Parts: sequence; C-alpha cells; structure tokens
Amino acid sequence: MTTPLIGAHMSTAGGVSRSIERALSVGCTTMQIFTKSNRSWFDKPITPEEIAAFREAYAKSGIREAMIHTSYLINIGAKEASTENNSVKALTQELERAQVLGIPYLVLHPGSHTGAGTDVCLKKIAGNLDEVLKSADGTTMILIETMAGQGTNVGSTFEEIKQILDQAQKRKLLGVCFDTCHAFCAGYDISTDEGYEKTFQDFDRIIGLDHLRAFHVNDSKTPLNSRKDRHEELGKGNIPLTFFKNLVNDARFAKIPKVLETPTDPEMNLYRREIKLLHEMISSKQAVQ
Ligand code: FE
Ligand code: FE
Ligand code: ZN
Repeated sequence: MTTPLIGAHMSTAGGVSRSIERALSVGCTTMQIFTKSNRSWFDKPITPEEIAAFREAYAKSGIREAMIHTSYLINIGAKEASTENNSVKALTQELERAQVLGIPYLVLHPGSHTGAGTDVCLKKIAGNLDEVLKSADGTTMILIETMAGQGTNVGSTFEEIKQILDQAQKRKLLGVCFDTCHAFCAGYDISTDEGYEKTFQDFDRIIGLDHLRAFHVNDSKTPLNSRKDRHEELGKGNIPLTFFKNLVNDARFAKIPKVLETPTDPEMNLYRREIKLLHEMISSKQAVQ
C-alpha cells in the first residue's frame, strides 16, 4: 500500500531542521517550508551544520516529497527591470537552498504583469525560468503554482501555465502545483463531482497530468470565481468536503504530495484535525491497494 503523502506548511523558527519535528508532531508524511522570510529578497546562506541537521532529520523522518515555497516578493515576469533582476537572483538563491537541503520541489507564484500585458509577462517568465535553471543540478524542480487571478497576477488559467511551459526550454525541471483554493477562486468549479472530473480533464488536455507534481489543499473563504485568495480551514469555507474526499481518493494523484496551507493555531491543533480528516476520507478500498 502506498502511504498517502499528506502534510502541511511548517514553521522553520529556530532553523530549517526544526520543521521536521513539528511536521511529525502533527502527523505529516510530506510538508512545505519557507527557508527564509517570505517577505524578503535574500538571506545569508544556510550553515553547513544546519544543512547536515536538516538532511539527517529528513532522512530519518519518513517525510517525502517535501516542497519549499519561494518568497512572495519574487516576480520573474515583472515589467520593471530592477524587480525582474532581483527576482531572478532571488529565485536562483532559493533553488540553491532547495538543492543543498535535498528538497525536490520549489513552488513559485508565476508572477504579475502590472500593466505590461499577460502574453509579455508569460514569455518573460519562461525565459527567466530557463535562466535560473541554467545552474540547476537536477535534484529540484520548480513548480508553477496555479493562481486565483487577483490583480494582474498571471497563471490563473491552465492555458496561461501551458503558455509558460511551452516557451521554456528546461521543461524537465518544471512542473505545476495545483492550489485548490486558487483554482476554485479562479473559476474552476471543483465543488461537484462533474466539475471535479471536468477540471482535471481540462488540466490533462491543456497542460497534461504528468506535469502535476503537488497539491496545496486549502478551502476558500470566498466563492467560486471570486478571484480572491483567502485560505480557509477544510470544511469551513466554500469548497465542500466532498471535493477533498474526491481528491484524496483519486488514484491518479495517489503519489502526489498534498500540503495544507490553511490557517492554524500555535499548537497546530487545526492542522492535526485536518490531516486526520484527510486520512479518514481515504476509503478502505484505496488504502489496501
Ligand atoms: Fe503560494
Ligand atoms: Fe498555495
Ligand atoms: Zn493562496
């Protein structure tokens, strides 16, 4: 039987290696972290001691397919050259950090065009992904996250993500992270069984399910097609629990890591409840495969 890869976004307070014990304490089999402040461009390198401590704890933990989320400042599709240049440098540093830690996935918000237009932005993103991946050692893939479509953010449709992938050369090191809250807010109606099937059929036809490498599992405070990005606890928002049940029982996604980014409390009791809930949703038929 395949162990379901279900986890949550973890704090790295006290050092990246500390995230592992936190993840285990709430029952994670996968996880996501920031390796630096999500509101800063750069950070000093992670010390060799901290890298060794992380690698040892990660290897022992049984946690797999972990992902790093990049800084929110990064916009490799930016109109202004200074922002674009900083973003390429910052993303290169984030990739190096992921590689030294041995983390397979780096999740990236594709960017925003701030008036330059979507097509120009998507082309720039593809070129800059190739630029960043020039120095890649092949251990970490960059995953483009599906977005809610706020403001001038790009990447809220499968077509836009496909446009990035098509224009990039280093496609083997690129994948997609599907954020359930974002997709719902972007207008993909995953709330019904039919809508669920149609959404992933569309994803497969337009992008290809082989490019789907991770899920952010979030409920949404705002309704379908709201183009807002407000995460909510599972069962408290506008996405019905039947969606999450469909997701964790979908054999196509059995080996794909699924990470919560829902609001939690300092003791992470909310994460604990949600992780347990997702495991309980997995039908016995699936679990004995
Ligand atoms: Fe994100
Ligand atoms: Fe997300
Ligand atoms: Zn979000």
